[in-house]
Amino acid sequence: MSLTFKILSGSNPGGRRARLDLPHQVVETPVFMPVGTAGSVKAVAQDVLESLGAQIILGNTYHLYLRPGHEAIRRMRGLHRFISWPRAMLTDSGGFQVFSLSQLRKVTDDGVQFRSHLDGSSHTFTPEHSIDVQIALGADIAMAFDECTEYPADRNRAEESLRLTMAWARRSLEHFKKHRESVVWRDEFEGRTQSLFGIVQGGMYGDLRRQCAERLVEMDFDGYAIGGLSVGEPRELTLEMIAEVLPLLPKDKPRYVMGVGYPDEIDLYARMGVDMMDCVLPTRAARHALLFTSEGRLNIKNKQFAEDQSPPDPACQCPVCRRYSRAYLRHLMQAGEPLAATLNSTHNLAYYLGIMQRVRASFEPPAQRDQS
Ligand SMILES: [Zn+2]
Repeated sequence: MSLTFKILSGSNPGGRRARLDLPHQVVETPVFMPVGTAGSVKAVAQDVLESLGAQIILGNTYHLYLRPGHEAIRRMRGLHRFISWPRAMLTDSGGFQVFSLSQLRKVTDDGVQFRSHLDGSSHTFTPEHSIDVQIALGADIAMAFDECTEYPADRNRAEESLRLTMAWARRSLEHFKKHRESVVWRDEFEGRTQSLFGIVQGGMYGDLRRQCAERLVEMDFDGYAIGGLSVGEPRELTLEMIAEVLPLLPKDKPRYVMGVGYPDEIDLYARMGVDMMDCVLPTRAARHALLFTSEGRLNIKNKQFAEDQSPPDPACQCPVCRRYSRAYLRHLMQAGEPLAATLNSTHNLAYYLGIMQRVRASFEPPAQRDQS
């Protein structure tokens, strides 16, 4: 067994509240997943993530493969133990970073040859290799190796990219089925193991997206993601692609939209029936002084906050808002203090996690909750 997914309330179409039972954590969905790029959610320690209620975080396969290396992590009994994160984790396939960060890529039907952005060394990722690396890392959820179609992409380019993604999805799944039992922590969880999600691509073409979704559903993955969004397209198009694909995905399996979005977007998508989302935005924006608050976006570097004694977000109960003032956060940014990144990121993550908490609560009155 890998995962179980039990819908507690809500209906289709529309959002649903569910319980995603993974080996390391029972995750209440809809859920926002902070991104822990290279084994760290930038500037935020694991105990703080726990106290904010983060249930599942991401690790990036490309980064961890290059440094410290997946074999080293396997020898240390997997990513959970290496980074001391007892709750659930998900790893991406490495595809997105290979295409966005590495140099001198050569794409063939077999896979992608690339040079590391760290030292220029040469590497090859195939679907099989991506799965091997992800099994070594040992996240609760692994992702099929895909090509993230760039935006804009013309019809021919999107079709060719989709052909690769679908062939790679099949190879990822076959390889995963053969080797999924070899994850290092399996014995600690009564034989439970990892799950694999397929990724719907197809650029900004609704019919290609639908075609991809139907094929992936036939292959029968443990869950389904919609990838290749938030790559520079207008918001309406992101929404349109999600709306195209969601009805085609099985109702009884988790649905994950990758790499989105702004606070209002994650709220909207969760209410449309998306169960999982991840984004670097709350932490990346935080490092650039941008705070998301109930009063809108705040550039905490602005002079107007120089002596502002109020909390960053008066409606927020996070440890940062309970303790510190806007004036102090502004000062930390001005002085280039590393604590600025930590405090800003902590608040932004609390804000994102709080949105999902409210969405979950809105789906169901507490009295009707399934207690089983
Ligand atoms: Zn706060």
